[in-house]
Amino acid sequence: TVNYYPFIVYYSFAFVPLCPIQINCKLIQKMGKRVLIIGAGGVGNVVVRKCASVPEVFSEIMLASRTKSKCDAIAADIKHMNIQTAALDADNVPEIVALINQFKPDLVMNIALPYQDLTIMDACLETGVHYLDTANYEPKDEAKFEYSWQWAYQEKFKEKGIMALLGCGFDPGQSQIYVAHAAKHHFDEMHYLDIVDCNAGDHGQAFATNFNPEINIREITQDGKYWENGEWKVIPAMSIHKPIEYPNIGPKESYLLYHEELESLVKNFPTIKRARFWMTFGQAYLTHLEVMQNIGITSIKPIMFQGREIIPIEFLKALLPEPGSLGENYSGETSIGCQIKGIKDGKDKTYFIWNNCKHQDAYNDAKAQGVSYTTGVPAMLGAKLMLEGIWMKPGVYNTEEMDPDPFMSQIGGYGLPWHEAINPVLPHEY
Ligand code: NDP
Repeated sequence: TVNYYPFIVYYSFAFVPLCPIQINCKLIQKMGKRVLIIGAGGVGNVVVRKCASVPEVFSEIMLASRTKSKCDAIAADIKHMNIQTAALDADNVPEIVALINQFKPDLVMNIALPYQDLTIMDACLETGVHYLDTANYEPKDEAKFEYSWQWAYQEKFKEKGIMALLGCGFDPGQSQIYVAHAAKHHFDEMHYLDIVDCNAGDHGQAFATNFNPEINIREITQDGKYWENGEWKVIPAMSIHKPIEYPNIGPKESYLLYHEELESLVKNFPTIKRARFWMTFGQAYLTHLEVMQNIGITSIKPIMFQGREIIPIEFLKALLPEPGSLGENYSGETSIGCQIKGIKDGKDKTYFIWNNCKHQDAYNDAKAQGVSYTTGVPAMLGAKLMLEGIWMKPGVYNTEEMDPDPFMSQIGGYGLPWHEAINPVLPHEY
C-alpha cells in the first residue's frame, strides 16, 4: 500500500541473472571460486543455499560448524551441488588455519557468531584469504560491541593484500548500502538518519528470538545509544519508544536501540547530525524478557549449578527454539528501511528506502524465516561482488564504503527488492 506516502515515487527493482550463451557460462565457470562458510545456523543455511544457486561464482562450497550433523543436513538438502562439510571449532585459530590450508578457499564467510570474528580474521591473515561477516566482534564476557577491534586489522589486511568486509547482512549491511545509495544519488548532505526495523511476523511460539538468542538478548538488554550533534547519547535500555508506520504493515511500537552500523555510518558520513536505530517488539516478547531479566536467566555472569559453572544466558539459549527452526509456520513479514533528511541542490529533501520480506516467501526460497533470509541474501551478494573483483580492495571495510550500484542493481533478483520514496511524508516524524 502507498497510503502513507502521498507524494511517493515508487520503484521496484528486480534483476534476474541471465547467462544466455552457453559459451559465456563456460568461461565464467572457469572463474568460479571456493568459499568456506562457517556456521550452520539459521543464517548459515540461507548463505549456503544462495551461494549454491550461483555456481558460476561459488563453484566449490564447504560448510563448517561446531556441530557437523547440522552442516550435513543442509548439504543433503541441496541436490544440484556437492557441498563439502566439516566439524570446526572457530574459537580455535590453528583449527581454522588447518581447514583453510586443506580446502584452500578464496573467501571465508563467518556466519557463526560475533565471538568468532577475531579468531577467523587471524586465521585469514595467516593464510592470506579474504574475509566477510554479518555482525561485529563482541567479547563473550562483556555485552558490548564496537568496531574498534576489527578496524584495528586495517593495516595488517592491507599489507597482506586481503580484504575484510564487515557486517554484510541486512542491518548491519544492506541498511548501510541504502545510506550509501542515498548519498550517491539523492543528497548533497545528509543530516538526519533513522533506520527502522520491523518484524510483523508470527512464528507461533510463546517466546523465540529470530537470530541467535544469546546475541539477540545481549543486544537489546544493553543501554540504548544514538548519535546527536557530534556525541553519543546513552539512554536506559528500551526507554525511548514510539509508534512508527511501516509500509504494508501500519503503525508498530518501535524502540530505540544501539545498533553497530550507527558507529561506522557517522564516521563515514560526517554531515549526519543525528543517527538512530529503531526496532519493533511485541508486548508478549517484552513481558517474557522482563521476567527473564528479573529472575537473572539473561545474565552473562557465571553461576555455580550442581557443582559446575554455567552461564545463565547460555542455559537459556539451550531451552529456546533455534532461529533456523522457525521458518515453516511463520506468517507475516519484515520491513526494514532508512529514512533520511538532508539537502539536495540547496533545498530540503526527505527520502525513504526499504525492503519488505514475507516470511513464507523466505521459506519457499531457502527454507528459512525472514530474519535469517534478509541476513543471508546480502551476505551472499557481498561475497559474490568481492569474488568477482567488483568490491575488492585490500583492507577492512564496512559496506557503505563500497560502490552501492552493483549491489542495488542485483539484490532484487536474489530475493530482496527495494523501494524508494522521494519527499514522502516520512513514516516517522522529526
Ligand atoms: P544461530 O544460533 O542459528 O547459528 C549460529 C551457528 O554458529 C550455529 O550453527 C553454531 O553451532 C555455530 N557456532 C557457534 N559457535 C561456534 C564455534 N565456536 N565454532 C563453529 N561454529 C560455531 O544464529 P544465526 O544463524 O541466527 O546468526 C548467525 C550470525 O548472523 C550471528 O553472528 C548473528 O549476530 C548474525 N546476524 C546478523 C544480522 C544482520 O542483519 N546483520 C541479523 C541476524 C543475525 P551449533 O549449531 O553447534 O550451536
